[in-house]
Amino acid sequence: MKIPFVDLKAQYLSIKKDIDKAIADVIEETSFIGGHFVKDFERDFAALYGVKHVIGCANGTDALYILMKMLGVGPGDEVITVANSWISSSETITQAGARPVFVDVHPEYYSLDETLLEARINSRTRGVIAVHLQGQACDIEQIKSICDKHGLFLLEDCAQSHFSEYKGVRAGLTGVAGSFSFYPGKNLGAYGDAGCIITNDDELATKCRMYANHGALKKPDHRMEGINSRLDTIQAAILSAKLPNILRWTDARIKNAGYYDSCLKDIPQMCLPKVRPASRHSFHLYVIRARRRDELMAFLKEQGIETAIHYPVALPNLPAYKYLGYTPSDFPVATRLQSEILSLPMYPELTESAVGYIAEKIKLFYAGATA
Ligand SMILES: *Cc1c(COP(=O)(O)O)cnc(C)c1O
Repeated sequence: MKIPFVDLKAQYLSIKKDIDKAIADVIEETSFIGGHFVKDFERDFAALYGVKHVIGCANGTDALYILMKMLGVGPGDEVITVANSWISSSETITQAGARPVFVDVHPEYYSLDETLLEARINSRTRGVIAVHLQGQACDIEQIKSICDKHGLFLLEDCAQSHFSEYKGVRAGLTGVAGSFSFYPGKNLGAYGDAGCIITNDDELATKCRMYANHGALKKPDHRMEGINSRLDTIQAAILSAKLPNILRWTDARIKNAGYYDSCLKDIPQMCLPKVRPASRHSFHLYVIRARRRDELMAFLKEQGIETAIHYPVALPNLPAYKYLGYTPSDFPVATRLQSEILSLPMYPELTESAVGYIAEKIKLFYAGATA
């Protein structure tokens, strides 16, 4: 059996008519930039997510960059984020002119360890980017109260956490704003690059909308200089076609995580993902920690099972951040995880029998092993 890491083709085939129509409609109307397709998606995503403003933009990285620029981040500032994430969470801090400061990850939940946050705050700190990595919510309540105490902004990087919740509050709704990516493999994925900002703050929403569109709500009324970061119209139409399925797809991911949990629970050489109490993990990724991780990964590949590592090198350990002067021992948890974590195939269309097959192969790998 061949099992890909994600199966975008299976999803396409399941909603082919809607997707084909969405693309054809955009072409028929030759409405290639902006227009009602973008507005419709922004309105429908806002309604479904339960947020006042959705501002479409070119990708999830731009969403973070635009937010930081509009929150006034600049040279001399520091912004705190987490040691294990995709590089967008930290490179946008640098793009905005500030210095990224990293906090280690939580040993059980793998997201920003809120107990270590306060020690990183100083007079230059302007804000925090909390990342709900893998679909697992951070303890965003605790992080928010630390931010409030120190007068810092809180942004939520929700690129991996569409419809994740903590204590009944969806990811992105606790901080001043949230950023989403609709990269094809994300839980809600376009057929190219796409992203958005969500916020309940009217003024911030207007500023972000302007900045993403050359500093103008309408041409030629440029109130400031901005950038060109538009949500592409074909992508917006595709996202609208997919949106009615997202809650069902999220449920299917959670169900598949449950299948993994029950098939893999008795293997002493691995740790299964632990869901933070009072949260809803949307399982963008199903990440295990495994002994002999690299060998297991190679073995599964030989069996036709594609896995991945998110991420093989923690951010502060990357050559790009050498200049910050950190050492791996400053981030003991993130550094240890980078050699243990493995993301197993995860997508809504994955079947119970495929999960059973993967579990069988993992058991076969460890059979007879003593360590
Ligand atoms: C995917 C991702 C992003 C960036 O999204 P793009 O749309 O690829 O720019 C940002 N942060 C995290 C955690 C991501 O996984």
